Amino acid sequence: MLEVVGYGSVDELMDAAIPEVIRWPGALDLPEPAGEAEALDQLRALAGRNTVAVSMIGLGYHGTHTPAVIRRNVWESPGWYTAYTPYQPEISQGRLEALLNFQTMVTDLTGLATANASMLDEGTAAAEAMTLARRASRSRSRVYVVDADTLPQTVAVIRGRAEPLGIEVRVVDLDGDDLPAEFFGLHLQYPGASGAVRDHAGVVGAAHAVGALVTVAADLLALTLLRPPGEIGVDVAVGTTQRFGVPMGFGGPHAGYLAVRAGLERMVPGRLVGVSRDAAGEPAYRLALQTREQHIRREKATSNICTAQVLLAVMAGMYAVYHGPDGLRAIGAHAHAMAARLAAGLRAGGVQVADVVFFDTVSAIVPGRAGEVVRAAARRGVNLRLVDADRVGVACDETTTEAHLAAVWAAFGVPVFAGDVDAALPAGLARTSEFLTHPVFVAHRSETAMLRYLRRLADLDYALDRGMIPLGSCTMKLNATTEMEPVSWAEFAQVHPFAPESQTAGYREMIAQLEGWLAELTGYDTVSVQPNAGSQGELAGLLAIRAYHRSRDAGHREVCLIPSSAHGTNAASAVMAGMRVVVVGCDADGNIDLVDLDAKINAHRDTLAAIMVTYPSTHGVYETGIAQVCAKVHDAGGQVYVDGANLNALVGFAKPGRFGADVSHLNLHKTFCIPHGGGGPGVGPVAVRSHLAPFLPGDPLEVGDSTRPAVSAARYGSAGILPIPWMYLRMMGAAGLTRATGVAVLAANYVAARLRGSFPVLYAGNKGLVAHECILDLRPLTKATGISVDDVAKRLIDYGFHAPTMSFPVAGTLMVEPTESEDLAELDRFCDALVAIRAEIDKVGSGEWSAGDNPLVNAPHTAAMVSADQWPHPYPRSVGAYPMGTHTGKYWPPVRRIDGAYGDRNLVCSCPDPQAFEQ
Ligand SMILES: *Cc1c(COP(=O)(O)O)cnc(C)c1O
Repeated sequence: MLEVVGYGSVDELMDAAIPEVIRWPGALDLPEPAGEAEALDQLRALAGRNTVAVSMIGLGYHGTHTPAVIRRNVWESPGWYTAYTPYQPEISQGRLEALLNFQTMVTDLTGLATANASMLDEGTAAAEAMTLARRASRSRSRVYVVDADTLPQTVAVIRGRAEPLGIEVRVVDLDGDDLPAEFFGLHLQYPGASGAVRDHAGVVGAAHAVGALVTVAADLLALTLLRPPGEIGVDVAVGTTQRFGVPMGFGGPHAGYLAVRAGLERMVPGRLVGVSRDAAGEPAYRLALQTREQHIRREKATSNICTAQVLLAVMAGMYAVYHGPDGLRAIGAHAHAMAARLAAGLRAGGVQVADVVFFDTVSAIVPGRAGEVVRAAARRGVNLRLVDADRVGVACDETTTEAHLAAVWAAFGVPVFAGDVDAALPAGLARTSEFLTHPVFVAHRSETAMLRYLRRLADLDYALDRGMIPLGSCTMKLNATTEMEPVSWAEFAQVHPFAPESQTAGYREMIAQLEGWLAELTGYDTVSVQPNAGSQGELAGLLAIRAYHRSRDAGHREVCLIPSSAHGTNAASAVMAGMRVVVVGCDADGNIDLVDLDAKINAHRDTLAAIMVTYPSTHGVYETGIAQVCAKVHDAGGQVYVDGANLNALVGFAKPGRFGADVSHLNLHKTFCIPHGGGGPGVGPVAVRSHLAPFLPGDPLEVGDSTRPAVSAARYGSAGILPIPWMYLRMMGAAGLTRATGVAVLAANYVAARLRGSFPVLYAGNKGLVAHECILDLRPLTKATGISVDDVAKRLIDYGFHAPTMSFPVAGTLMVEPTESEDLAELDRFCDALVAIRAEIDKVGSGEWSAGDNPLVNAPHTAAMVSADQWPHPYPRSVGAYPMGTHTGKYWPPVRRIDGAYGDRNLVCSCPDPQAFEQ
């Protein structure tokens, strides 16, 4: 590879590629690398310092049994966890079907029309519902009303999102206070955080009367027994699907959900899976209404969510598929019956229990004794919720047993209760409507059937377990099995985020070490792992900049400069942070145009808050002007945000915190080996220099600190997957990490060198070298032959590859990022495929193949197509299906090219009627 690129060693190559101004001369101060077994032993020791208790804390996180068939064949299966976001739908039909199941589950249970394919957690889903309400409401009010019985962490996230947008949050006790005269939206919790189930029908009507929209944060398990929000005219439902088989993981990751009534579907944030049809007219799934991926609309976006929680949504959807409607109802009934027995036992023993309708959570009133009761339960291995000095909350769930109830009764000092209890819910509140009536929710109810269903869907998809996924900007690298294993350990998986600190020492030490190592790698002073995606790290970082300016009486600084090449989330996040986006152009070489930068700085000198740049740039180049960019912005009083998504090109060689930046987010699901999960989970830590440290995200349970708004519902975000980057860093050490960066840059330059003759490489930096990715320019070929990037991307499927990133950051191009994880054989296979595709394009150009009927425009070729009795095309079937010869392992796409526009005109976002598949 070095020979092809023209260097004698990786060191020589890196010396040439990396500009002197950013080069970090020192060594990384990390522990000596440990082998796989040794690293696992060390992590075991940390895990051993966590206590796995029976959790009856509730507050949105519950015990659940992950069906073993789902744990092993989804959660622990690389076929599912190494997949990318389903932007290439022809190779993603399995996970798209799984997500459609998830959406159907959510719409059925909530009684609403359309649900998206996951949100980051309940708190952020509630915040997105607030901004949706603001856009859709006909009220001009700035007031958002929040039910006082809402989960405290949700209130914190809502407040954090509201403040920069000028929204006033008013928390109202629905049992006593009046609603304000005017407000644009109302957030209700159902059941409430206290456990109380209120009949919201009246308050929904009152809100609608003043033009407000109503969001209900609803527990989907409760909705198996309770009247769903859609039946009382609610506009939006949000929540978490954690208790559908996803471990608590000390706060995440779990799939949040957001569903809307008919008429609001075009305002839904995030990704929405829908049904369309392929070139043969067969039903096929794909992401619907792509513009709803709001971040693509940059500063016009209404949400910055990009990476969501796909793997967890798949698990929750499969939990519903496996249990079916009657199974879910039985689980809901169990949780409710246990709570009813618990309450009866407490009452029989003389303990006062709040006199309300409840589903699974009992609120016990023990004046002055609450702390003592909670401690007594903890001694028996059970965690309860300390509401205040006088009240204890106890939440039951799928895993609650008689023995757990006995422990709780003992903690309250009351005898075991043996009587019968009538657990019936009041008629007006009980659910009468059916749910999960689609055949998918009855067809896979045996383990045999479930195993085969999961295998069949995984087989439809192309993930890293089949071959390379060369997606520029996404860093689809190895997710080593040894890194993945600890995620399933009970000491990490079965910990409630609000468990007492004495039970989470191992978690907190692991997180502190990880934050310390990330600070060392990036040259920053402080790191917070709270943001649960890159987009949320951006928001957290920009909010820190905002709070910093305000702390210095410079709150008028609100302009955020963003280069035209930036990822769409950057601009979307800036708007959410209350900033005004001003775009800076790029020059002909793809670098930030320093002349335009000067002009924009001069025009906004007094109001400049920040610049947000990606380094190396999204053009795949180490820009030499970065130090100047930082200096110019600092001189004008602004802060420098470096988007760290491309850190795989820097680790060990340069530290953003030392070459001029003040804050960055990192993508642990890119550079640091958390698998992409088919579109999440992710972790987007925010890293800052010391002057911004006081403004990092705060603990969502410590409400009221507006300089430290929480950006996620749990203090450490998706803590449950932090063992993955911990293991990666522990096993790599300083030398290994530095070597990985060098090999990633070598691989990108190797690909660029091999493909330059077939497709021009759009941008290059020092000595004609690229960084860790390269952009292949197809525009001249498209102009000459009509063959588009889309055609090349789909033709790559026939060759057995996932397409590179398409048309980002430059329309009409492909961006290739090979990473350090691909060996020479795989890189060559990929380059050979692209060289062969170039030759195919030439046949179209020369007229040998017709422009309207050739293997490129017909790609991908399915087995059904090439084995059909009719073959009307002017090239042989073998050229269609086996362009590299039949000796290679063949991936067969299950559908032909999908017509996205058809599905957008005929929007269907839940499981289609099975007859749609019959011919
Ligand atoms: C991936 C990416 C992001 C967004 O990260 P998510 O985790 O998807 O929210 C932001 N900027 C760049 C350059 C990226 O590549």
